[in-house]
Amino acid sequence: HQSKTTKPHVAVLAFPFGAHAAALLNLTRRLAVAAPDVTFSFFSTAKSNCSVFGRDHLHDNIRNYDVADGIPAGDQLPRYPVEAIGLFLKASPDNFKKALEEARATSRQFTCVLSDAFLWFAADIADELGVPWVPLWTAGLCSLSTHYYTDFIRHMTHVGSTGEKCGSTVGTKASIVGNEDQPLESIPGLPPLRVGDLPEGIITGNLDSPFASMLCQMGKMLPRAAAVVVNSFRELEPTIFDDLKSKLYKCLTVGPFAILTPPPSGPDETGCLPWLDQQRTHSVVYLSFGTMTTPQPEELAAIAEGLEAKGAPFLWSLREKFQEHLPTGFVERTRGKGVLVPWAPQKLILEHPAVGVFVSHCGWNSVTESIAGGVPMVYRPLYGDQKLNGRMVSDVWRIGVEIEGGVFTRDGVVNALDLILSKDEGTKIREKVGALSEIEKKAVGPGGSSTENFKTLVHIFY
Ligand code: UDP
Repeated sequence: HQSKTTKPHVAVLAFPFGAHAAALLNLTRRLAVAAPDVTFSFFSTAKSNCSVFGRDHLHDNIRNYDVADGIPAGDQLPRYPVEAIGLFLKASPDNFKKALEEARATSRQFTCVLSDAFLWFAADIADELGVPWVPLWTAGLCSLSTHYYTDFIRHMTHVGSTGEKCGSTVGTKASIVGNEDQPLESIPGLPPLRVGDLPEGIITGNLDSPFASMLCQMGKMLPRAAAVVVNSFRELEPTIFDDLKSKLYKCLTVGPFAILTPPPSGPDETGCLPWLDQQRTHSVVYLSFGTMTTPQPEELAAIAEGLEAKGAPFLWSLREKFQEHLPTGFVERTRGKGVLVPWAPQKLILEHPAVGVFVSHCGWNSVTESIAGGVPMVYRPLYGDQKLNGRMVSDVWRIGVEIEGGVFTRDGVVNALDLILSKDEGTKIREKVGALSEIEKKAVGPGGSSTENFKTLVHIFY
C-alpha cells in the first residue's frame, strides 16, 4: 500500500453500458462523502459521463474524465449495444491507460484503482501503478460465484476448459444446448442448480463472444483484488459469502444500493401512489421487467389475459411502444381496475401496503427492492443473472414462485396470482419476505454488516 504521506487518489474505471456506470458512481458518491480527503477520478466514455453526471452537483472530490469508446472516427454509432460493447472492449485497456496518463499529468499519482468488476484488465493497470485493485460487482453474490467457478463448471460439464485468455474454449469447444433441465453437480456455496439456471456465456450461449470472454477473465482475476465489493448483503447469501470469503482476499458486501441510495425515482407523474392509496392492503399486482428488456408480444398478451381473468387490481410499468401488443379492448375493459404507465416509481410502489405481489424479471435491483418492501414475487427471468436470482427467490429464500413452464401463459398467470394473493402458501411466502426485509434493514443500519463492510472499504484507500 501507498506511503502514509501520499494523499489518497482513487482512479474509478466504469463500464459504460446499461446501469453499470450509474451504480459505480452511486458507490463513488457515498465514498466521497465518507472520505472527503480522498480524491476520486471517474473514467468513462463521454456519452456515459454525460448521462450519469447529468447536471447534478458534483462533490468537490469527484472529477470525471472521458475515455475513448472505440468507435472508429467517422463511423456511424453501432445499432446494437452488443456491437458497442465489442468495440469498447477492443479499445480497452489502451483507452483507459491513455486517459489515466492524461489525468496524471495534471493531478496527483493514483493510490488505488476502483473499477467495475467487468473490467478485469484493471487488475493489471493497478499492478503497473503499484496500487491495490478493488472491483465492484453490481449484482448478487450468486451470479458472481458462477463466474468465479466458470472453469470448474466447464470441466464438470465437459464443455472444455477455458483457454489462457478465455477468448476461446479448449476441448470440445461446444456450449450446452437443449439440456436446460440437466442438474449440475454441486458448486461450492450455491444451491442445487440446473444448466438453464446459469447466466449465458458460462456453458450456454456463445462462449467466445467478447462479453462471455470478459466475464470469464473477470472470474479468474478476482483473487488478485485487494477487496471485491458486492451489491448484496451478507445475511442474504451466507453460504456463498462464506465460500467466496475463503477464496478472495476480502469480500465486502456493501449493498443493496437500491435501498441505501436509490436513484431519484422522479416525480410520480402518472399518479401511481395516490391510486395505490385507494386500494385494499396486499391486493394490487405490480408488474415491471426492468430497463433493458421486455417479454415477447405473445407473452405480454398472455399476461393481460391472465390479469383480466384474475380480476385483481394491477399497476403495470410498460413502455408505450409495447402497449400495442395487448389484446384489443384490454385497456378499456380494465379501466378503473388497472393502471398502465410507461414508468413507475418502483421502489416507492413496492413499499406501499396495497401491493400484494410483484411480477418481475428478477433483475437484481428489483429483487432487493421487493425484499425491502416485503412483497412476494412471481418471476419470469429473461437473460443473464435473472434465472439464477430467480432460483434463489423460489428455492432458497422461498419468497416467490417461478411462472409455470418458465413463460407467461394466461393460466400460468392466474395460477401464480391465485397462489400468492389467495392461498395459505401465499401468506407463508409473504411472512418469509417480511422477515427477510427486516434482516435487510438491519444489514444497512447502524452496526449492520453492509455498514461495517463499507467502513472497511473506506480504510483500503488510506
Ligand atoms: N425501475 C423503476 N421504474 C420502472 C421500471 C424500473 O424505477 O418503471 C427501476 C427499478 O426500481 C430498479 C431498476 O429500474 O431499480 C431496474 O433494475 P433491475 O436490476 O431490476 O433490472 P434491469 O433494468 O437491470 O434489467
